Parts: sequence; structure tokens; C-alpha cells
Amino acid sequence: MTEVAKTTVVRTRAALRQALAAAPRPVGLVPTMGWLHEGHRALMQRAREDNATVVVSIFVNPRQFNVASDFTRYPRNEARDLAMCEAEGVDLVFAPDVEEIYPPGFATTVSVGTVALPLEGAARPGHFDGVATVVAILFDLVGAERAYFGQKDAQQVMVIRQMARDLAIGTEVVTCPTVREPDGLALSSRNVHLSPEQRAAAPVLRQALVSARDAWLAGERSGDALRARMRDVLAAEPLADVEYVSLADGLTLAELDEVGGRALASLAVRFGTTRLIDNEILDESRGTATD
Ligand code: AMP
Repeated sequence: MTEVAKTTVVRTRAALRQALAAAPRPVGLVPTMGWLHEGHRALMQRAREDNATVVVSIFVNPRQFNVASDFTRYPRNEARDLAMCEAEGVDLVFAPDVEEIYPPGFATTVSVGTVALPLEGAARPGHFDGVATVVAILFDLVGAERAYFGQKDAQQVMVIRQMARDLAIGTEVVTCPTVREPDGLALSSRNVHLSPEQRAAAPVLRQALVSARDAWLAGERSGDALRARMRDVLAAEPLADVEYVSLADGLTLAELDEVGGRALASLAVRFGTTRLIDNEILDESRGTATD
């Protein structure tokens, strides 16, 4: 019988540093806000494959919610989250409270430049400042060789890469494919808020992206045509309230007239008060679309 090491839970910066001092290298970090699902599990498994020590952070970061009610209603279940971490052989869980990350007098904001401005940055003012600030703190505290993020939040990965590069943080940012339900809906902690009718309608995000991808694979290169195609698919679903539809440059996120090189098709759609996002990379150099 093989001995399975238990997951250690730490709640303070000091305890985290102490636990990491003796940890075998390399260290892989998976930052999360909890309410863990199969998307998070895939990040943990990739981190487990690549590293001698796996650290998962669970922290619902108030600074990245531009709407206060969204923060308070964000789902939480630490016992269930810890069970998943344990099952995936995670060595260390860092689950601080808000004051541990933002002690009284905390006054610094990490603000990343133009890549943080459009799309999610425009729809959710301050969101990426909150993300970049907390991830900078986590990167500094953990000092991991690698950190793992989901392609589902494509712009977030771009913001974090820019931040890590600019601040000369030695943690490699690894992007993992989006994990989906069988009907195509990207897993998200927010899916729990969907009513049965909204849940049934939500795969329309994926359908819109697949429609754009198929047109692109068939040779369509007009940004307007591809955006219109996504809008048409979404318009056919009465429960879908479209926030944005984008076909943007894969590096700068500037909206494209002509699609070439690496592009990002992305969208944000509301179902009642629940906001969902998804995206698809259209990469000319690979000849196919990838997640
Ligand atoms: P969150 O807990 O929502 O902040 O997400 C933590 C990490 O999990 C982020 O890097 C997300 O991009 C990633 N993630 C969330 N949903 C998925 C998914 N369906 N597939 C892959 N990664 C995901």
C-alpha cells in the first residue's frame, strides 16, 4: 500500500512561507477562488504532473469584483474544495481570509496596461487591477516555478503574463485547455446560479463560437462577418442577453477587420443576473482552431 500524504492547509502568509521553506522543488501554483470543479481539477492534475510540490490557493478576492453583490453571492464550500485537493494529491492549500491578503492600510494596486482595457476590462472596471494585484501577491508569496491558469479566462492569462514579465517575476505562466460539460458549456463556478431554463440555454455561447470557428475554417476572414455570425447565433436564444462579442488580435486584443495570424473570438453573455464568458483561439499557424 502506498502512503498518501495529507494536504496541509495554511491560512497565514507566515505559515505559507514556513511550509514552503522545506518543500521539494519545483513548485506549481494553482490560484483559485474555490467552489472547485473539473476545470480546476485539470489545472491541479497538470501541476501535479509537472512539479514536486503543488500549492492551491483558495481566496475569493474582493478586489476583482466590480459589483459588491457578485462578491457576496460567490459560492463557497471549503470542505468540498479541500476534499478535491486531497484527492488530487495537492501538498499545500493556502486559504487566507481577506485581512491576511489585504491588511489594514493596504494601498497598492497593480495595474496592467492596454491588454487589460478592452473586453472584460471594459465590462468590469477595476476587475483586472484586482486580479493582477492578488496574483502578484500570490506569486511573490509562493515563489513557484510555474503557475497554472485556464484558457477559459483568456484575457486574464494575457494580463497575468504581462504582469509577470514586467515585474520580472520568475514564475512561468502555463495555460490549460477549457474543460466543458458534454453539451459544450464551459465549467464555471457561476453555472450554479443558472435556473434550469438558463442552464439549458447556456451552451449557446459555445455554439456561437463554434459557428465562428467553422466559418473561419471554411475561409471567412472578415472580422465583421465573424462577429455577425456569433451575434446571429446568440440572437436566436431569447434568454441570452449579449454584453459583448469580439474578434480580436490574439496579442493586443484590438478588434480586427481582417483575421490573420492568431486571433481570439470571445464573448460575454448574461442569463438573468449570471454572467458567462467563453472564447476560442483561431490560430492561422496551426491551421486549426484550438482551445
Ligand atoms: P476561478 O476559481 O474561477 O478564479 O478560476 C481559477 C482558475 O481556474 C483560473 O485560472 C480559471 O481560468 C480556471 N478555470 C475556470 N474554469 C475553467 C474551465 N472550465 N476549464 C479550465 N480552467 C478553468
